[in-house]
Amino acid sequence: MAADNQVTGMGLSVSPHLSFPAPKSRVRVQKCSSCQQAGATVGCCQKGCPHTYHYACAIDTGCLLTEESFSLRCPKHKRQPV
Ligand SMILES: [Zn+2]
Ligand SMILES: [Zn+2]
Repeated sequence: MAADNQVTGMGLSVSPHLSFPAPKSRVRVQKCSSCQQAGATVGCCQKGCPHTYHYACAIDTGCLLTEESFSLRCPKHKRQPV
């Protein structure tokens, strides 16, 4: 009598490389020029100036804030010749 040796092939199809396109975050995270933390909201209004600050940091750094227009000038540009 032949032993009925049946191999049950359990089809394990678990792929360790589950790759699906991760959604790229398109949120622009502005880094504060003062504390280097993300979430800076006010940038220097001087064209080409990359300085961006948190509102509190801007005051702390000595930036010139014009509240009427909500514009900011970093210490480097606050003395701009008119
Ligand atoms: Zn800051
Ligand atoms: Zn500036």
